[in-house]
Amino acid sequence: MKKKLLFLGPPGAGKGTQANLFCKKYGLDHLSTGDLLRDEVSSGSVLGLKAEEVMNKGELVSDELVLSIVEGRLENINEGWLLDGFPRNVNQANSLKSLLEKINQPLEAVVLIKCADDYLIKRLLERGRKDDNQQVIKNRLEIYREKTSPLIDLYKKEGILEEIEGNADIDVVFSCIEKSLG
Ligand code: ADP
Repeated sequence: MKKKLLFLGPPGAGKGTQANLFCKKYGLDHLSTGDLLRDEVSSGSVLGLKAEEVMNKGELVSDELVLSIVEGRLENINEGWLLDGFPRNVNQANSLKSLLEKINQPLEAVVLIKCADDYLIKRLLERGRKDDNQQVIKNRLEIYREKTSPLIDLYKKEGILEEIEGNADIDVVFSCIEKSLG
């Protein structure tokens, strides 16, 4: 089983859910930039307050902040890890590449969880997180299309992309992911 992983996909595709299950079962470190940023927000730090404003609009927080968070974590990471929510644009992907070269742990696979927009919107509205309202969701989907989806081609060219259909039951999606990484 591959164990240096990146989960990619639009908001609401189920990355976080699948990443949690996968890391628990295979003992990987789960590095979710969304979760780490929400921790920063709850801590009430100045950086957290700044990030909260951006997140509530559905925009991307600065590459600088995200990179500093990820860099700190990657320095002490185990042999098995799963990145979720990062990278989200080409600049972050390039930075990740150099960070991973530095620690000599190249990515083994990128799992793209695909899902049609109308399902995504329905799921996010049901979840009802603070940044899950109609206008903000629309913004997040647009940003995904514009900034994040170019990474799909990038990893396809590297030959490490696995595409998974996310519009199915959680356990069905999970076993598709396992099969693709086995
Ligand atoms: P979702 O995948 O449902 O959008 P996340 O928990 O991954 O949820 O992210 C929530 C918010 O956190 C994003 O809308 C964005 O504002 C911020 N965020 C998370 N990861 C990054 C990142 N790598 N770069 C910039 N902003 C990020």
